[in-house]
Amino acid sequence: MTDELDKFNNETENEIDTVSENKNDPDTKKEEDPNKPADREEVCSMCRRTESQVKRMFVLHPGLCICDDCMQKTMDTLAGGGSLSIMGLTPKNNEEEDNNKKGSFGDLAGLSNLIFGDLPTVPMNQRLKKKKPPVKKEEDIEAKFDIKNLKPPHVIKAELDDYVVGQERAKKVMSVAVYNHYKRVFDKNEDGIELEKSNMLMIGPTGCGKTYMVKTLAKLLNVPLAIADATSLTEAGYIGDDVESVLSKLLVAADNDVERAEKGIVFIDEIDKLAKKHTTNSRDVSGESVQQGLLKLLEGAEVEVPVGAMSKNAMVPMTTMDTTNILFICGGAFPELDKIIKQRLNKTSAVGFLGELSDKYDDDRNIAGKVELADLREFGMIPEFLGRLPVVFALDSLKQEDMVRILTQPKNAILKQYKKLLSMDEVALEFEDGALSAIAEKALKRDTGARALRAIIEEIMLDIMYEIPKDDSIGKVIITEDYVAKNGAPQIILRSGSN
Ligand code: ADP
Repeated sequence: MTDELDKFNNETENEIDTVSENKNDPDTKKEEDPNKPADREEVCSMCRRTESQVKRMFVLHPGLCICDDCMQKTMDTLAGGGSLSIMGLTPKNNEEEDNNKKGSFGDLAGLSNLIFGDLPTVPMNQRLKKKKPPVKKEEDIEAKFDIKNLKPPHVIKAELDDYVVGQERAKKVMSVAVYNHYKRVFDKNEDGIELEKSNMLMIGPTGCGKTYMVKTLAKLLNVPLAIADATSLTEAGYIGDDVESVLSKLLVAADNDVERAEKGIVFIDEIDKLAKKHTTNSRDVSGESVQQGLLKLLEGAEVEVPVGAMSKNAMVPMTTMDTTNILFICGGAFPELDKIIKQRLNKTSAVGFLGELSDKYDDDRNIAGKVELADLREFGMIPEFLGRLPVVFALDSLKQEDMVRILTQPKNAILKQYKKLLSMDEVALEFEDGALSAIAEKALKRDTGARALRAIIEEIMLDIMYEIPKDDSIGKVIITEDYVAKNGAPQIILRSGSN
């Protein structure tokens, strides 16, 4: 039955081709049905779905179209009821018989009249206009990613500067590591010197820009990026995602192009949650075992990956991915790591004559910058895991002035976005310096880094965004410090000429 249908579909498809060819042919255009202009979508007379919603549409005669799903269902029903044999369309048994039936398969007019003859044709006023295919912009067309087009570190850093505020050292370390990584990817290794992978470990408090930096980097390099959460990973066989699921995500980000995915970036957030638990005797399926599971991915291995799904099962097709050229970046806040670092620093400084005060590092906000592998091991990361993340660096916690810059400076800064929104109503928006500092101050108190900024701005702007479009005479709104502190109203300036 399936063979028969395939054949039927192929032949019908030929007919569709003929129909569309005729449409384009200038000679036949004149004879075209005036009620059926080519810019209207065909509609299935049975299920009423349009041409763009179905896989294939069979044009049986002008105005009568059947989609392939309905065609399939109808044929299945007919075959089940034996009607096909009445029409001489018995399932094929052998080649000879099959050849004899070619005529009846091609007799679409008779067949369609018999089966679909009673269906109403879809009138013109119920047809959607066909969408124009999107025109590809130049920047959408993928630039070739090879050693010649590889951006050097200073260019990568300069581009990161456009988006990421502060974090100077982190941006520098990252630019160099990424540059070296892709040099290694494109190296043909003709001289026998093997370059090592530069997987990274980022340490920094929440909301300081870890994910944002990686996202920006992947966009600048035009490589696929998968962001995974270490807390959802478990050892294979337990409830949760296997470590291979991060590769499935990468494959999805690369539009199922294995070759592109194999040069992509995987960011694993909350990696500190995989630390070995010091106080447990039970099997640690979501911590240390996941670190163990990740080892082979970080190092480079051929891994079986489910396509289009997060977990392996019998129904999901599998593919093999080589992780040798995938850049892994792990990030985490590592709470309490500062205590471990301080303890080590105090221990070393207390030895000898130059014993320093034990509270010397207590006010050091960026103590994480002094991190060493020994501290991370004490935190609970296993040495083999750390060994596969050779580039370790810390991000600074954001200060008030950083927050103000995040509000105003990046290419897509939140305030620039609001200014743009209001400029569409021809209203200018300004923030007093005091207001910016007050917003930054509020955000710092929430202790979620720059993430708090957006929420605070949305809160402040809600009433303004609601009220402004009501009144055409408003030309400018100035957000004052008092308004942020909820002690007053924003300053409203009317257009010249309005009363
Ligand atoms: P985390 O460090 O927890 O991964 P994110 O990178 O997700 O934090 O930061 C949250 C949001 O805060 C980002 O989407 C970005 O808009 C903003 N942000 C954080 N840090 C910076 C920064 N240094 N420069 C510009 N924006 C930042």
